[in-house]
Amino acid sequence: MRVLIIEDEHKIARALQKALQQETYAVDVAYDGDDGYAMATTEPYDVAIIDRMLPGGYDGVDIVKAMREARIHTPVLFLSALDSPAQKTAGLDAGADDYLAKPFALAELLARVRALLRRPTEQQPDILTVGDLSLNTVTFEVFRANKPISLTSKEFALLEYLLRNQGRPLSKETIISHVWDYDADILPNTVEVYVKYLRSKIDAPFDSPLIHTVRGFGYKLEA
Ligand code: CA
Repeated sequence: MRVLIIEDEHKIARALQKALQQETYAVDVAYDGDDGYAMATTEPYDVAIIDRMLPGGYDGVDIVKAMREARIHTPVLFLSALDSPAQKTAGLDAGADDYLAKPFALAELLARVRALLRRPTEQQPDILTVGDLSLNTVTFEVFRANKPISLTSKEFALLEYLLRNQGRPLSKETIISHVWDYDADILPNTVEVYVKYLRSKIDAPFDSPLIHTVRGFGYKLEA
């Protein structure tokens, strides 16, 4: 899953980026309102974490309003020292999904990001499943037919994205834009290579494949 951070305090932005990357997310950072606005309205993110007080008189609230007006429904978490009930209300009314006051605990922020990525119907929200395969987004454990499977962080990120979109054909370009960050120079054939690695671990040792090739387009995960 791909996350956008808009935060002008470099120290906080870098700490967040590192923590989110450790959770296997692809992470882009914008350090000011202009870059943040441009990235939030043009790149497909799965979650955006937005600071409110940004340089140049920007309020993160304006970025969220612009996103919602453009019908971009990416879940947004505000991160702000503006933490009065009225300020929080203004942020949520602008279209944000959650609001965390600074200073914050990293573990709480990560839990809230996981919550924003959840579909409302999921029974066990931290465990994603397809057929006899399960992936735990908190412990990073993957099992198929009760056997543990060891994945690299990129393989894990790819599998998580496929699981969150199971049953849907996904183009290679779509997969790239949600699993790799902006700075990664990824070609469609890199996706093929990673899918091959993943298949060798989650499909090859078992009877029925879960990853299906959609010819001339991309892939679909389905039991
Ligand atoms: Ca700030």
